[in-house]
Amino acid sequence: MPGSPITHAFVVLLATLSVACGGGDTDIVKLFVLDGGTLHVSDPSRFQLKREDVAELDLAVACYLVVHTKGVLLWDACAVPDSEWTPTGSPVKHHLVLPDSQERDVTLTQPVTAQIAAAGYAAGDITHFALSHYHYDHTGNANLFANAAWLVQKIERDAMFGTPTPGVTRISTYESLRNSRVISVEGDEHDVFGDGTVVIKAARGHTPGHQVLYVKLPKTGDVVLAGDLYHYTQERTLDRVPTFEFDAQQTRAARKALDEFLRKTNAQLWIQHDFTAHKNLKKAPEYYE
Ligand SMILES: [Zn+2]
Repeated sequence: MPGSPITHAFVVLLATLSVACGGGDTDIVKLFVLDGGTLHVSDPSRFQLKREDVAELDLAVACYLVVHTKGVLLWDACAVPDSEWTPTGSPVKHHLVLPDSQERDVTLTQPVTAQIAAAGYAAGDITHFALSHYHYDHTGNANLFANAAWLVQKIERDAMFGTPTPGVTRISTYESLRNSRVISVEGDEHDVFGDGTVVIKAARGHTPGHQVLYVKLPKTGDVVLAGDLYHYTQERTLDRVPTFEFDAQQTRAARKALDEFLRKTNAQLWIQHDFTAHKNLKKAPEYYE
């Protein structure tokens, strides 16, 4: 009996219940982009690229705050802990020596926590925390979010706290996660808030439990935060895989699977380290919705 008064009353009742419960169409998703500075690269050969292959050598460092009606997820924690540098109002060049003696320079402008505050949140408001993977340039401020539920694959967590710790990591930046409540990401997908708008997708290979984040935004459209599935766009166009993958074959398979997913969903791929793409994104307190 389409259109009957009873059907109409039922629909109104359902809509009212949905609003009252904060569910259904009322769910809000906002994506804030946080800037973790510029990672300077003088030689891109570790990405199997030559200088002439890439227009821009520098890499962006990004982390992201995803605000949903049911919680707040921080995706990645940028490269340099806020506690290790002092903002001056001008860009600050920070020199890092990794435990395996590799050295990196990162130019920083604003602490991550200051950007989260600008978005309207404190570290303690973060209910969910996930890393694309364990490399140092993603775990910088992880210790600050140890009270959040940590969404991680078992194989990744085991490696992070294994002996020896994997290369290109700084366990001091994520040591506190040892005591975090873990939500284990099993299989190929994990729906963070249960409504399909924020989904962690396994994309293994760069590390054992590397993952990417799919965010369904009503106005912007669907976005995939690519972690380090790629660093430079030229890895994608020239089909290059970095030299330091945990498993290069897995990376190739993950890239292929994600390409199919992008075609199916028409989602945009946001390469987190892509300097030019990151520069052009609006930053917190502005957001994508
Ligand atoms: Zn990275």
